[in-house]
Amino acid sequence: MPDVGRVYLVGAGPGDPELLTLRAVRLLQQADVIVYDHLVSPGVLDFVSPTAERIYAGKRRNEHTMRQEQINLLLVKLASEGKQVVRLKGGDPFIFGRGGEELQELAKHGIAFEVVPGVTAASGVASYAGIPLTHRDYAQSCIFVTGHLKDGTADLDWPSLIRLHQTVVIYMGLGGLAEICHQMMVHGASPALPIALVQDGSIASQKVVVGTLSNMPERVASENLKSPCLTIIGEVVKLHDELAWFKQTTALTPQ
Ligand code: SAH
Repeated sequence: MPDVGRVYLVGAGPGDPELLTLRAVRLLQQADVIVYDHLVSPGVLDFVSPTAERIYAGKRRNEHTMRQEQINLLLVKLASEGKQVVRLKGGDPFIFGRGGEELQELAKHGIAFEVVPGVTAASGVASYAGIPLTHRDYAQSCIFVTGHLKDGTADLDWPSLIRLHQTVVIYMGLGGLAEICHQMMVHGASPALPIALVQDGSIASQKVVVGTLSNMPERVASENLKSPCLTIIGEVVKLHDELAWFKQTTALTPQ
């Protein structure tokens, strides 16, 4: 690696370390310092060089270990000291990862950077849950949205979410699930539309709960699902029963 400081914004994938890219593994082994988020799985951190400094930047919901501005400044500081910095984020850094914001700050300070894409939760988690996001019989398009609530309401473009033959993938949608199901039905989606929630996708504790828009909020409460959890809505969810291949502790079918 060169002598001047540089930041590598690296996607760690959804959890299973086998889903890391070769470039990510190489950089983890060569970096001077790793700044990582809570979504990065312990198995991924096993690839970090034993001599590298590890800094936990946190950012779990309601537990903001470091504010975004502090993280931005930290990256600038470390790179200015001439260090090779890996900024490691769960999934893909450019999909609901605030990676763009961090790079803007680096660009402002003239710090060199590179981006290494990762397997985003939508594709990684859906694969491990046996739910193809598109399928010629069920869905010809797929939309990714964030279900993160502001002031208790999800400010989503509901009409765009209820299109036929489309799969909806919702990141950060666990807290607002009841509201999301309710709004989709109010806007015309069938109460029987299949929906899956996948907790801890791609690691041993993966749990898949399948239901419908009408019964999912109740199921989620009784299943005690926890973050990180990905929501997949659409007819493709029906394929889970047939295609699930990864070990699961729970799989309920729509009624
Ligand atoms: N940049 C990340 C997403 C960060 S937003 C990516 O590309 O995947 C965080 C959300 O991602 C979580 O709330 C959850 O909805 C989803 N997510 C990430 N990893 C997950 C996993 N292993 N299992 C289920 N959902 C996951």
